[in-house]
Amino acid sequence: MIDFHCHLDLYPDPDAVVARCVEAGTYVLSVTTTPSAWRGTLALASRAPRIRTALGLHPELAHERRRELDLFEELLPRARYVGEIGLDGSPACRGHWEDQLHIFTRILAVCAADGGRVLSIHSRRASSDVLDALDARRDAGVPVLHWFSGTPRELARAVALGCWFSVGPAMLTGAKGRALVAQMPRDRVLTESDGPFAQTNGRPATPADVGLAADGLALVWGLASAGEVHQVLARNLLRLTTAPGGSKPDHDALACDPRRGTSGLR
Ligand code: MN
Repeated sequence: MIDFHCHLDLYPDPDAVVARCVEAGTYVLSVTTTPSAWRGTLALASRAPRIRTALGLHPELAHERRRELDLFEELLPRARYVGEIGLDGSPACRGHWEDQLHIFTRILAVCAADGGRVLSIHSRRASSDVLDALDARRDAGVPVLHWFSGTPRELARAVALGCWFSVGPAMLTGAKGRALVAQMPRDRVLTESDGPFAQTNGRPATPADVGLAADGLALVWGLASAGEVHQVLARNLLRLTTAPGGSKPDHDALACDPRRGTSGLR
């Protein structure tokens, strides 16, 4: 199973969630919301060879954490993945738009200057603005739009720009979300939980819930089983994590054997 967007550090007992991921062999992109959270979140995965820790600065925190941009730049050479970053145009965040835009465009620029990264991107009520920023910085790496909720036209533009998509159970329960997922290139889709922010059955989602997303994808794609979906997703993950433009190839991303250990880059 693959959870390409989860906030492991925000669970009440992160170690328990990590232990279950290790037991199940789940690949997790463990995203962070502030650069100051990165080292501690990285340490959570020290004995979890399939968990990768992304360096992020969430748009909802942009106005409070603008000063952490320096720390972001300092840590970037050690981080193979970047996220959660992006823009949020919802009413609660609109007031801090200038800070959001400053941080997002600066992060894309420093990623480009350092050879590009795989980027997990938030775009709630800001799809067109996110795409404008990505269009202006195509050398920033490989964008993975998490929980994309734009219009079909915006989705078509994202696809043309080379974006990937991480899709959670919530996107697959409604007709609008399913129609968007059906429009995404099958070879650029991964599953995500967005736990613990996203809810599954009235409780905070966990990485295990990506199984529900795989069931939903089987329906949208007309595949007989979640097993076939997992094969598609595993191929996608391998391609994404070894893609040129996503910076240093992560050939161990699919390794399940804990004895293989991990490289310095996470
Ligand atoms: Mn998130």
